[in-house]
Amino acid sequence: MPKITDINSIQVLDSRGTPTIRAFLTLDNKFTGIATVPSGASTGKYESVEIRDGNKNYFNGKGVLTNIDIIENKLKPQMIKSEFESIAQFDELLISLDNSPNKSNFGANTLLSLSMSFSKALALSENIELYEIFDPEISAYNIPVPMMNILNGGKHATLSSDIQEYMIIPLGFENYSEAINCCVKIYWTLKSFLESKGKSTSVGDEGGFISPYHNNEDPLKLIMHCIEKAGYLAGKEVFIGLDVAASELISNEKYKISLPNSKENYISADNLLSFYSYLVDNYPIISIEDPFDQDDWEYWTKINNKLGSKIQIVGDDLLVTSVNKIQKSIDLNSSNTVLIKPNQIGTVSETLNAINFAHNNQLNSIISHRSGDTEDNFIADLAVGTKSTQIKSGAPSRSERTSKYNRITEIQMINKNTKYLGKNSIRL
Ligand code: PEP
Ligand code: MG
Repeated sequence: MPKITDINSIQVLDSRGTPTIRAFLTLDNKFTGIATVPSGASTGKYESVEIRDGNKNYFNGKGVLTNIDIIENKLKPQMIKSEFESIAQFDELLISLDNSPNKSNFGANTLLSLSMSFSKALALSENIELYEIFDPEISAYNIPVPMMNILNGGKHATLSSDIQEYMIIPLGFENYSEAINCCVKIYWTLKSFLESKGKSTSVGDEGGFISPYHNNEDPLKLIMHCIEKAGYLAGKEVFIGLDVAASELISNEKYKISLPNSKENYISADNLLSFYSYLVDNYPIISIEDPFDQDDWEYWTKINNKLGSKIQIVGDDLLVTSVNKIQKSIDLNSSNTVLIKPNQIGTVSETLNAINFAHNNQLNSIISHRSGDTEDNFIADLAVGTKSTQIKSGAPSRSERTSKYNRITEIQMINKNTKYLGKNSIRL
């Protein structure tokens, strides 16, 4: 077993210019794993805790020098010269040193930087690809379907739609490269359309355009128009997904979302549920993420009962990559698909536990980036290496988004036996 000989970390910037941690973990065979952690904006209330300096005069309190100090003075001395047989064993030490239920002592961002860099170092030292480290039982890998967010709203874009993400999902293709071609063509068509109407082509945090509409149905009409104009068949080759991020919209048990033909800005959960039914009946929507608030379990169960046999009901803020929350969702029949974000839980092995738990209970998993992301493409390997059926990494633009899609292309080059999942990615 290789021993850890060195750990270093530095403060770098994420895609929003916000500081984040990059860790370097070296083994005695000289292999170094390097990893950088992402950060969310529409973060769930039950996510593990990210810690930052809080010094308002330095990056508005967002610096991560405290985390770097924790790594250097509290974690490194416990790890140096130690041998770890597996990612799980390494993470167990991290979790016990932090010794809090939600990683609030040392920070989920701090722990994850080490857990990811250890995973990478281990893969290098075993002379295997990163995607092969997560589950030694898997021999045949699949290529997940990309979910590309081409119109950004909510907390990821100002003066835009209330719904946070309008995604295109290229299910009806035989291979990944055709699927990517389809998404890019639709994205470019959307750009030309906006230009031709004299609208802004500025993009939000995840590289999708800022929706020119405030009514939350019109962006769907626009996407349908662009799918057709780009020469594709909506509902056959390409489908639509939404991330409503409804936890950001709730106030006094009402949701702030503007609907067509309505002057009401705040609507009840019942009306919101009717709106979703109407959308699913009228558009080729196959996935809705966070349709209700993270505490509104009653309406999650209602929507899953009503629409869950037709579309994916995806739990992000609801499930926060936590086995306990996924168990609760199974008990209450609240969702049929789990969104996975490693920094919601704080270590790689707990992320793997959540994915395996979902799969063992016949739930699909979607591996996701964060709105503040980096050039680190760890999640592409995670998606392939856990047989997750979909990956969500924003628009086909901005390098922190495309680095994940590009790594999947690379994996296809390395491993000629992979197969693009296409329509088989959706299990309903
Ligand atoms: C999301 O809500 O799925 C997302 C990627 O956004 P954030 O990282 O801001 O939580
Ligand atoms: Mg989400």
